[in-house]
Amino acid sequence: MTRPRTLPARGPVYGALRSAGAPMTAYQILDAVRDQGITAPPTVYRALNRLVDEGLAHRVESLNAYVACVHSRHGDAAAIFSICENCGLVAELEATDAVAGLRDAASGRGFRVDRMTAEVRGLCGVCLDDPKALAASAARHSTDSGDHDGHDH
Ligand SMILES: [Zn+2]
Ligand SMILES: [Zn+2]
Repeated sequence: MTRPRTLPARGPVYGALRSAGAPMTAYQILDAVRDQGITAPPTVYRALNRLVDEGLAHRVESLNAYVACVHSRHGDAAAIFSICENCGLVAELEATDAVAGLRDAASGRGFRVDRMTAEVRGLCGVCLDDPKALAASAARHSTDSGDHDGHDH
């Protein structure tokens, strides 16, 4: 009799996320734990769902990726991330007031929040000190606005 394999919450999937220190997609995680004998995507997804449920990891929606929680104990399922548009650095912010504010704003309208994700995008401190990154960012933004108000049709 075989039972579906269930991994301990702080098992190899969590270990892979922790050691990466950066967001990983489910398939990147699968690659990382393959040599530990885990080859079935559902096993990885189940482990990820549990980690998210237990607040040990968070899902970064816009990247379709997962990241280990930086807090020793994350009391709330909501997490806010900053994402650097230049180097891709993702950091979890300490923003419990903002999370509470969003929740209050929603419940004030009679809305029950089940899940909440928030992301801020821009440049990280390292990239802000890098003239090349600043120039690339400026070029990206001028291209963006060019797309919207371009008249060359
Ligand atoms: Zn967290
Ligand atoms: Zn950066």
